[in-house]
Amino acid sequence: MGQVLINQKGFQWLRTGHPWVYRSDLPDLERVSPEPGSVVAVLGPGEKFLGQAFCNPRSQITLRMLTRSRDPIEKDFWKRRIEAAIERRGALARDKERAVRLIHGESDGLPSVILDRYGDVLVFQTLSAGADRLKETFIEIFEDVLKPAGIVERNDAPVRDLEGLVKQKGVVRGNLPRPLFFKEGGLKFSVDPLEGQKTGAFLDQAENHVAARNYVRGRALDLFSYQGGFALSVATAAQEVLAVDSSAPALAALQENAALNGIGNVTTWEANGFDFLRECDERKETFDAVILDPPPFVRDKKNVTGAVRGYKEINLRALKILKPGGILITCSCSQNFTPEMFEETLKEASRDTRRELQVLERRGAAPDHPVLLTFPESNYLQCWILRVL
Ligand code: SAH
Repeated sequence: MGQVLINQKGFQWLRTGHPWVYRSDLPDLERVSPEPGSVVAVLGPGEKFLGQAFCNPRSQITLRMLTRSRDPIEKDFWKRRIEAAIERRGALARDKERAVRLIHGESDGLPSVILDRYGDVLVFQTLSAGADRLKETFIEIFEDVLKPAGIVERNDAPVRDLEGLVKQKGVVRGNLPRPLFFKEGGLKFSVDPLEGQKTGAFLDQAENHVAARNYVRGRALDLFSYQGGFALSVATAAQEVLAVDSSAPALAALQENAALNGIGNVTTWEANGFDFLRECDERKETFDAVILDPPPFVRDKKNVTGAVRGYKEINLRALKILKPGGILITCSCSQNFTPEMFEETLKEASRDTRRELQVLERRGAAPDHPVLLTFPESNYLQCWILRVL
């Protein structure tokens, strides 16, 4: 097994409990030149053994810690980790009507591995070289432990570029029944794990969709609606809902989902979210509730400034078109847009529009997307529920 030395800075960083080490903290990487995706022993100052990690010299995130022990990393090691992750989901893992994230990467001790289940279908992603190299092993274990009807690979996520991995997707085992449905908050949703965004649905928002129902009344706008996770959920409490997204297939699926549930008070509109908000403001159109759930504007640390501007703009405009007493539900799913940055952005939007905001709830991702306390990147999803006073 290859050995990779980390410098004092990397050592201190690892001691905080963070599971990644960056290339700049690995002084002898070029000399050792480990194969992308190999498992290496991690050595600290004085060549002290610190654990084992996936190593990808091509990626800025060069080491992803797997264990602080010397246990052999074989198929059994992975099987134990996968079974433990599934076990932690309890009854949700076995409820075939619902959709669930069974493996959430680092937070489940399986760095960059994602596994979602929709009914009898599993959808996985292996988003680093280390995880990708073990793909066949993982598939065998998934089959063995979960006995699915089909397994879909969704390795077309842009982060694969940063690992030097090609993008690919397809049905890799069994078959994909279509249509495929799952239930959330008493509603039925159809999902396409092969063509939909992410693995088909935004399961991290599942509980926020339902929570939104407690606050939204009257006329609501769901901006960046995708297939209607928020729109259809709040439609059961609101008078009417306008769902806006730039993706025509997403809105077609939303309409299909509305019909599936006999929901008749949701209208869809295809538009760019920024333009739509500006136009609403110009024509003085107002809402009792606005939901903002944009795509991640910050994909890497370099683009934070532009992204902050994006978040500021949509939140500011949303505040302008809310009626007094109106509800703002505003989300961010960017790893690099921290909770502190989001809070500051909302304060600025509130000041600039002179609208006082009451915080009703600060929410995160659903519990099947657990957060690791010492891994802030896993706390990527934020959902604020606010009232305009
Ligand atoms: N709210 C959804 C998830 C939204 S994901 C849910 O809870 O299920 C973000 C959505 O924003 C995607 O559907 C994507 O098509 C859409 N989108 C991306 N850029 C956009 C833009 N500039 N204007 C409008 N919609 C956009």
